[in-house]
Order: sequence, then structure tokens, then C-alpha cells
Amino acid sequence: MSNNQYSLESSPESIVLDQAWVHVLERLHTEVQAAWYSRFIKPLKPVSLDESGLITIVTPGQFVKDWVQARYAEPLKVMLGDELGREVRIEFQVEPNERKVKSTSTAVVNAPAVAVVSEPFMRDQAPFKPNQSYLFENFVVGQCNRFAHAGASAVASQLGVRYNPLFIYSQPGLGKTHLLHSIANEVLKRDPGFKLAYVMAQEFAEDYVAALQNHRMDQFRKMQRNIDLWLVDEIQFIAGKDKTQEEIFYTFNHLYSLGKQIVICSDRAPKDLYLLDERLRSRFESGLVVDIQLPDTETRSAIMLKKSQAIGLVINTTMAMILAERVQGDVRQLEGSLRKLEVYASLHNRTLDEELCVAFVNEYYNATAMEKPGLDQIIALVSRYFKVSEEEIMGTSRKAPIVHARHVAVYITRSVTGDSWKHIGMQFGGRDHTSMMHGFQKIDEMIHRNKDFKGLVQSLIDTIAPRS
Ligand code: ADP
Ligand code: MG
Repeated sequence: MSNNQYSLESSPESIVLDQAWVHVLERLHTEVQAAWYSRFIKPLKPVSLDESGLITIVTPGQFVKDWVQARYAEPLKVMLGDELGREVRIEFQVEPNERKVKSTSTAVVNAPAVAVVSEPFMRDQAPFKPNQSYLFENFVVGQCNRFAHAGASAVASQLGVRYNPLFIYSQPGLGKTHLLHSIANEVLKRDPGFKLAYVMAQEFAEDYVAALQNHRMDQFRKMQRNIDLWLVDEIQFIAGKDKTQEEIFYTFNHLYSLGKQIVICSDRAPKDLYLLDERLRSRFESGLVVDIQLPDTETRSAIMLKKSQAIGLVINTTMAMILAERVQGDVRQLEGSLRKLEVYASLHNRTLDEELCVAFVNEYYNATAMEKPGLDQIIALVSRYFKVSEEEIMGTSRKAPIVHARHVAVYITRSVTGDSWKHIGMQFGGRDHTSMMHGFQKIDEMIHRNKDFKGLVQSLIDTIAPRS
């Protein structure tokens, strides 16, 4: 390190740095999630700025250091540079007395958790706050979801007694997360101090990797396992991630053996979770497995009524039925159509009545628009976008760009048509259904790793099957 360091107390540099830091904090405060901000950003202390532009920032522990270094080194550099009007470099240092002796415990499962480490962990440890509008009483029950609803409410009233684990699966937008939160809301209403965890599987995976890298497995496990109700959402994310699956498996066994209630949601059935460890699959299947189907017309109409009340739109049952007959799809699409209807009424400056509903569905939800797009359309679109010929997509070439385009086509086909793997395999020139699943999985993983790619695929899907 340079000899020309200034101490924060005395030098003009230190005052300049101090002020720059205040501004940077203000900016970050609005940009970074509140929990992360207070855990990771606020405790940072810039202690020196030397002549060469090197800023030393002290962190309250190795974990915070790694976390900030991985995510905010560059933004901090840019922001501090802006504030100071010069190029700067940043060095992070762990506060000397906080430097911990690295834990040597390897992956000893079920080892008693060590004393609580006061260091922050990746996610907010504040008690989980479920969405207050996701309540059982706001959930419309119909043929399509009655088992899932019954399972979830039985679980909420008698934890760990019936249906353990409860596994709910469906395509997106059909109320899985709503049900998980409803369970949490009900349990917390009975006992506000109840120890429950709601984990998105993807976050579990990220935290697990971070804990591994930072030798914080004991702490991670303690956090994950010291609970009485485990709500896991989007479990499909762990498919193919061996280490994470193993950890989920151990957490599952730990909680299960103690009689704790476990509820898991997924976008597909355990048997369709490609690349899932057999042991986990059989655990998942050992309790109650229920699916949620797309709502039928009656249920759609009931949902329209309920959701319209929630957004302050006044419609009667006839109007709800007019909408429900034409507007199909998942619940998000139904909600979307109500918002659209609201705008439609105000644009036309007309009262919301039956006649208006008819005009609205005729304009936006005509019968042809609801037809499934054909494979030809999808292949043509993918071919245009990826500059791979339609013949190549349908052919057998193993060249990477062609295979990639083919996988995207499979992904879109499955997403917009919902056809069975077997059917899709046949459409793609008699291919095996597992290769179709594999292609889908590949794209699915890329989508979850890469936001831009996700946006791209979504925009392709929107072109072919505009959402209502
Ligand atoms: P998923 O987790 O299956 O993707 P969500 O639980 O996020 O679906 O549901 C999407 C939206 O639809 C939420 O606003 C939710 O409240 C609503 N929703 C889904 N199913 C129902 C239902 N049966 N009754 C009322 N609202 C529902
Ligand atoms: Mg969900």
C-alpha cells in the first residue's frame, strides 16, 4: 500500500472522501434493496484515499467483503469516481479484529450448528412477510384448483399432520405462490412469532453457493433448518444443480424427521422435473402431489368478479361471464384483461356495462386471436431471428448455433401450446420426447441465468402469442 495515506480524521482528502461517501450512500439507498443496503452497504467504511486514487474501504467481515466486492466493486468505483471527479480504484479490507478464523468443518451433515455468528448472511434474516393480499379468502376455488386449495388449507390448519410434504405444481400464473403465502398468512395470524421460511429455490441455490465459498455452511444450515414450516417455491430451479439438490435433500430430511411441515411448489410434476435426483423425487412424491389446471369458464368468471372488486372495477355476473367466455389463459391474463377493460372504458368515455364488455371482447379477444399458433409460425420466427434456416432447425445437425435455435423453438412451442412432450417430439420430425425435454431444460436454465436472454425469448413468445 502507498505511504501517502491520509487518515480520515485529519486530512482534506478525508473530508472530501467523507462527503463523497455520503452522496454515494444516498444514491445506493434508493437503488439497493433496503435489507441489503442496511446489511452490506451501510456498514462499509471508507478509511483512506491516497494520492494515486486508491480508496480503502473497510468491511465488517469477510462475508460482507466478498459480497460487496462481487456486486458493488464496479458501481462503487464509478460512483466515487463521479463524486471525486477523478479516476479511483477501490480496495476492500476486512476490519482487522473481525477477521475470522476460517471454519474447518467440512460438509458434516447434521453436525450441531455452531454458535450464532453475528456476521450478516446473504439474505435478509428479518422474518418473512407474506403478501397481505394472498389470503385463502381471496383465492377463488374451482374445479381446476380445488385439490391444491384443500391441501394448502389443511396444511395451514394442521401443520405437519396431514399431507407432508405437500407438492403443488402448475404452469405459471395459477396461484401456487398465492397459496404458499396464504398458508404463511394464516399460520402467522395464529402465532405471529411462528418460525417459518419461504424460500425461492433459486435463492436457496445462490445462498448455498455463497455459503460454500465463504465457509459459512454451518450458519447457512442453521438458518435453513431452525424453522417449523418450510415453504419452497419454484423448486424446478434446482433441477440439474447437484450440490444444491443434495443440500435441499438434507434440509428436507432434517425437517421432515422432526415432523415439520414442508410445502413445495413447482412448474411441473415431480416426474417431469428433468435432472432431479431420484431420492428427492421420491421424497417429493411421498406426501400429497396436486396440480392446478387452467381455470374453466365458471372459475374464470368467479375470478373476474373477485379481481374486479380488488381493483375497484364494478362488474356484475353477466359481464364477468361475457369476459370469461372469451378471455382465456392463466389468472394473470385474466387480471390483465380487467385492467385493459378499465382503460378501454375510459378511452371510449363510456360506462362500464354489458354492451361495453361485448365490444371489448370483440375487439381484443376475438376467436381467431385465441387460436394456438402453429409450429410453422414458431419455426419461421426462430429461423428469422437466429438466422438459421427452417430446414436446419427441423434437421439433425449438431452444430451449436443450430441446436440452440432448435432448443429455443422447442421451448417456445411448449410454452405457447402446452402440448405434450411426445406430441412436440413428433412435430419436430419424430424426435424422442426426452430430447425435447432436454432442449426445453437447457433454455429454461439459460433464461434463469441471463435476464437479457429471458427478455429475448419472452419477446419472441409475445410476437407469436401476444398476452392479453
Ligand atoms: P404462480 O405462483 O402459480 O405462478 P401466482 O400465485 O403468482 O401464480 O398467481 C398469479 C396471480 O393470480 C396472483 O395475483 C394471484 O393472486 C392470482 N391468482 C391465481 N389463482 C387465483 C385464484 N384461484 N383466485 C384468485 N386469485 C388467483
Ligand atoms: Mg409463483
